[in-house]
Amino acid sequence: MKKIIVLFCMVVIFITPSFAGAEEIDQAKLDLERMSLYKKGEALTFIPWYYFAAIDTYERNVRSVRNDIPKRENGVLSIYIKPEDWSGLVNPVKEDSYLPTIHLFGGIGMDGNNDGKASIQDDEDLLFAFIHRLHFYGPSRQYIRMMLWDYYQRAITVDIIDEYARIYQYFGKLNITGNAFPLPIRSEHSYRSTWGAPRSFGGRRVHEGTDIFANYGTPVRATCYGVIETKGWNRIGGWRIGIRDLNNNYHYYAHLGGFNKEILKGQVVEPGTIIGYVGSTGYGPPGTSGKFPPHLHYGIYKDNGYSEWSFDPFPRLRLWERQDRIARRSS
Ligand SMILES: [Zn+2]
Repeated sequence: MKKIIVLFCMVVIFITPSFAGAEEIDQAKLDLERMSLYKKGEALTFIPWYYFAAIDTYERNVRSVRNDIPKRENGVLSIYIKPEDWSGLVNPVKEDSYLPTIHLFGGIGMDGNNDGKASIQDDEDLLFAFIHRLHFYGPSRQYIRMMLWDYYQRAITVDIIDEYARIYQYFGKLNITGNAFPLPIRSEHSYRSTWGAPRSFGGRRVHEGTDIFANYGTPVRATCYGVIETKGWNRIGGWRIGIRDLNNNYHYYAHLGGFNKEILKGQVVEPGTIIGYVGSTGYGPPGTSGKFPPHLHYGIYKDNGYSEWSFDPFPRLRLWERQDRIARRSS
């Protein structure tokens, strides 16, 4: 048995890096190309590169969960401009790249790389046209938020992009990945898949998350790289925290007995950062506690640019728990 385990470990060790290697190189190349475009945006507008990174990430996230926006075939940016806006509404050529006719039909397409064509497939042309659509007030954070509001007309979108920008600014790079199980791996805890189970408090609703049962005071940790978006009381969730990550996930931690005092709204966190402690708060006015056994309610929500929805976090919890266990054994 031991031999089999050793053999299995060797196979995992020798095979995994070669797989991950190719993917990592592709991702690194993509990140380099993207970063050079974001820096170009910064040079043109004086708006820091991490805001372009944040806008592009937001658009990529929204695009990946929407069927009404086509996937981009060529190019590395995800910023979306409708072909009819690019070419002009009544332009008979749908993806026109000839500037005189684009202008004739009132299109917004531009030639960013000076190759004589305004191609919606070209990243520099796309970036240039996008920038020309923005209303600039100035490069400060408040002015950038006003600019984002003009463009997106949605408060949540402005907040999300602003949060993404904070994460990119904090780490100074595009490759920011990793996760952790929300409780220390050594702690006593148990959970099972209860997603969609009925709940009655606060009106008829279904359970949007996983309940992880643990003792009072067990540390609760961030599961991702992200920003603290919400912190405070809510009638159902009690003391709760919400963290937004770069992959279109809003992580929701509820029924906390207390917060880590050093954690503030707007702060950047990493996987494993302690944000609070397991409790049994909620189901009433601020301070209500003990109406159910202590547990962490953990939920994940996604956003498509219009609305948010939750999905079952159970498979990810299992995965992160396993990964933390392996990391702990090898350290
Ligand atoms: Zn729950």
